[in-house]
Amino acid sequence: MLKLKNLLQILVVFAFVFSANVFLQAQNRADRAVLAEAERYSKDKFNFVVNSPKGARVYGVKKPSSQMLAAIDKGLTDLFAVARKNRYNKRLNYSDYVIFIASPDRQKNYDGNYSPDIAIGVAQYAGTDVDKGGYMYVAGMVLGYNPGAFLIGEHTQDFNRAADVVRYEGEHIVLYHNDRRRYNETMDHSKGGGHPILQ
Ligand SMILES: [Zn+2]
Repeated sequence: MLKLKNLLQILVVFAFVFSANVFLQAQNRADRAVLAEAERYSKDKFNFVVNSPKGARVYGVKKPSSQMLAAIDKGLTDLFAVARKNRYNKRLNYSDYVIFIASPDRQKNYDGNYSPDIAIGVAQYAGTDVDKGGYMYVAGMVLGYNPGAFLIGEHTQDFNRAADVVRYEGEHIVLYHNDRRRYNETMDHSKGGGHPILQ
């Protein structure tokens, strides 16, 4: 009897490990497309993936710092609160979001303020005053909507700024799923308009 019980316990453990593994692989499949986009835009390799304390999935070039994870959770918390105020109820779970922390391509903006931003190709912003010769600096960038995914620069200070960037990029994703017309009106900043969009 003892042996049978042990065998059953082993089977239960196996079943659990197997289903956890399948779940992780499925999650990775959903992430693969946005991971490719993140690498293409940032030219970084994301070797680390962790969950934030509240359950967002976070990819990092380095192991994400606890301050960055807290900033991500705060940004999403603020996003969900302002979304509910606007009666938007879809995609308000931390686990709906995948955040990529890229290596910044600069530490300061042109005014000399701390601004760990990422250089990306200008695309529709070509010829505007953000065009610095084929590239531009962004604080964040949406990568996809299923899952909701975006890129932000790694902060080592001013984590309130990091939280704001998370909230701002998340605004595009919330609008995409809750108010497509308003999403279309606000997705492209090349003709002006910025953040916050939701009040
Ligand atoms: Zn934006």
